[in-house]
Amino acid sequence: MYDYIIIGAGVIGSTIARELSRYDVKVLLLEKENDVSCGASKANSGIVHGGFDDKPGTVKAKMCRKGNRMFEQLESELHFGLEMCGSLVMAFEEEEFETLNELVERGITNGIHDLVILDHDQVMEMEPYVNPEVKGALYCPSSGITSPFELTIALAENAVANGVEIKLNSEVVSIEKGETFKVSTIDAMYEGKVVINAAGAYSDRVAGFVGADNFKIIPRRGEYILLNKNQGYLANTVLFQCPTKVGKGILVTRTYHGNLMLGPNAQEVSEASDVGTSLEALTYIVEQARKSVADFDLKKTLTSFSGIRATSDRHDFIIEESAVKNFINVAGIESPGLTSSPAIGLEVIEIIKSMGYELKPNPNFNPNRKPTLIKKSEDFDGSTEAEDPKKHIVCRCENVTEAEIVDAIHRGIPVNSIDSMKRRVRAGMGLCQGAYCGPRVAEIIARELNIPVEDVPKRGGGSSTLPHRESRWFFKEIKKSEKNE
Ligand SMILES: Cc1cc2nc3c(=O)[nH]c(=O)nc-3n(C[C@H](O)[C@H](O)[C@H](O)COP(=O)(O)OP(=O)(O)OC[C@H]3O[C@@H](n4cnc5c(N)ncnc54)[C@H](O)[C@@H]3O)c2cc1C
Repeated sequence: MYDYIIIGAGVIGSTIARELSRYDVKVLLLEKENDVSCGASKANSGIVHGGFDDKPGTVKAKMCRKGNRMFEQLESELHFGLEMCGSLVMAFEEEEFETLNELVERGITNGIHDLVILDHDQVMEMEPYVNPEVKGALYCPSSGITSPFELTIALAENAVANGVEIKLNSEVVSIEKGETFKVSTIDAMYEGKVVINAAGAYSDRVAGFVGADNFKIIPRRGEYILLNKNQGYLANTVLFQCPTKVGKGILVTRTYHGNLMLGPNAQEVSEASDVGTSLEALTYIVEQARKSVADFDLKKTLTSFSGIRATSDRHDFIIEESAVKNFINVAGIESPGLTSSPAIGLEVIEIIKSMGYELKPNPNFNPNRKPTLIKKSEDFDGSTEAEDPKKHIVCRCENVTEAEIVDAIHRGIPVNSIDSMKRRVRAGMGLCQGAYCGPRVAEIIARELNIPVEDVPKRGGGSSTLPHRESRWFFKEIKKSEKNE
């Protein structure tokens, strides 16, 4: 019997698991995919939002501000990657200053007091490559960039190290409510006193198993284009456009690891599993992004991808014990859910306490987790031929060693696909997109797990990020134009 069963190992399920592991309780984390962070938590902008643009008084606004302030401490404990580089909301028309001033007012109401409006020259000094037609910008120094899937993996690893049980490939297909909950996957049944639904875009479906679905999720896809690291110099901060009635606009940002990223658009889709990309959306993203930074080189595109926003029909985060006693919904966690995640973890603990449960501290709780990637010094003499695993380079593009890969396999969460390894150590994230290192990574995983190499898939089942046919055409066209030059 578990005290708490959490459904969904995205950033939200993982942060709740880690918060619960501070206490002397039995916790199970169930995830339908073959790894943690396979939903929205792996495919988003990776922005730690300043919290100035959320509607005052909403749960979102409260969680975002609080979560933002927890990130630096979290990074010092878990080492997932964080850079508080600041953000700019840029105005290209004089009239847009009105919106910038409104955002400042909103920010002040939300408790954000470090916002500054910059003029043209100040923006150009900070960001020499933005469109010189920029009239000014709202600068938020307390925004940042993080690695969203590394954050999720770090939270889950730390939760597991502190006693949480995790089961992957475990899709919850039904829940029976009696004195306790009987939570069933296809091949097992688990009993728990409290169930926490953190199933992201599927959270209305999961809530429906017990009739706690007093909300609906409308999946909204956001697509991205990721460029090579040699384009990262074009953005020092996160570059937003001034929001309009139509939306927040397309952003241009550096990722934590230095790539340039453009996106996302917003499009309702009928299926939460629809994570393809489309020619129409990618073309729109390029056009819009060029308004902020004209000179990125599209020929340096590495890939495109998309993530699904779990937008709820309540238009705010839902973090509450449902009408079904002991069943907690943590749903509708769209942007800024990543930023809010540390605060949401604490909020769920408060809800549990208010439900009358006593939480005694776990005397063995250790908040720290060692980094997955080891910084290589200038004189690092690794090579693809080296025998020493600490010097044996497996991924040439990202300089990843065999020792880093082996370490990632043995951290308590099963790592059994090439993409799971990619999210942990970045093998396959570089220019060749895994063409060189993919088979080598598979061999190391097979050797360490003592399984045939054919049993190490690229992805796990059901987590397709393959571009649609038309976006493959988009990339072919880019390559063709490169050859013609
Ligand atoms: C395009 C886009 C851009 C964004 N940009 C930002 C940003 O810059 N900053 C920011 O703060 N936030 C951002 N967000 C929001 C942020 O990504 C999400 O709020 C956050 O990742 C939600 O985490 P989650 O754990 O609720 O959902 P998910 O990561 O989707 O996790 C839910 C998990 O539940 C699992 N699951 C579902 N059903 C079941 C079942 N029946 N049984 C077992 N497991 C199940 C899924 O497989 C999944 O792993 C963005 C989101 C998107 C889509």
